Amino acid sequence: MDWQYDAMAIPPDIVTYGIKEPMQHGYIGVNVTSPHKEEVMKLVKPDEVARAIGAVNTVDFRDLSGTNTDVDGFINDLKAHQIPIEDQTVIVLGAGGASRAAVYGLWREGATVIVVNRTLERANKMLADLAISAGIMSRVNALSLEDASTLPASLIVNATSAGMPPNQDLSPWADDVPFPPHITLYDMIYRPAQTKIMTQVEASGGRAINGLGMLVRQGVLCFERWTGVEPPIDVMFEAAQNALYPKKDDKS
Ligand code: NAP
Repeated sequence: MDWQYDAMAIPPDIVTYGIKEPMQHGYIGVNVTSPHKEEVMKLVKPDEVARAIGAVNTVDFRDLSGTNTDVDGFINDLKAHQIPIEDQTVIVLGAGGASRAAVYGLWREGATVIVVNRTLERANKMLADLAISAGIMSRVNALSLEDASTLPASLIVNATSAGMPPNQDLSPWADDVPFPPHITLYDMIYRPAQTKIMTQVEASGGRAINGLGMLVRQGVLCFERWTGVEPPIDVMFEAAQNALYPKKDDKS
């Protein structure tokens, strides 16, 4: 396809200009990443998902609509790995933007969600916000790591930045707290491919998956929205892998 996708650095003080300028130059839309996802809400017509989590990552200039493909990129990747969601207890680590998308998506799919965050007040604030923006009143709670670890959870989602450079030696899961038995960990971090918490879970006999699939699948949804074409997902995976995990002898 004769289309073009470019990266642009937009300083926070010119977000409005940064969003509208590409429209004047014939772009059909933009992806928005941190720290602009919340600010852009005011500049577009956010759909139900974007309103629920208070953040837009995809704008379509044709109708000035904004959505957030992180939610379905994440849920679609869980489903692609045959990870059950409905009626499951899921521990979500973190209370930032990625956690908000995970909590909303898991709740929407029928899970009971336990949020664990280093700063408990931030977890409670996130749940209070989600109650207002998404009507989430039940099946969600914030607990300490110790209390959450005793629950019969089948899935842990790492939505913290612990494990990502420059914090690749950190884990949000304390060494002296056992994992629930037969646990699956979904780490939203995709670089490095193997994080400390993934290694901890595998050492305890659990299964660990990194966030590359979420990244690719949210991109698939953007691509479909803009072009109306279903992209070859294997080509997207290969391109992402080559870009993120270049082979040591690859000098390009
Ligand atoms: P954020 O808003 O900055 O939130 C970071 C969260 O991590 C906070 O809850 C913070 O806790 C917690 N945290 C940071 N360091 C910690 C540590 N040492 N121990 C325990 N908790 C710690 O970040 P975000 O935008 O939500 O992103 C979170 C992660 O998700 C990033 O690694 C990002 O790359 C990843 N992500 C992946 C995808 C994908 O497509 N795969 C998409 C979006 C995000 P406090 O509240 O206590 O500070």
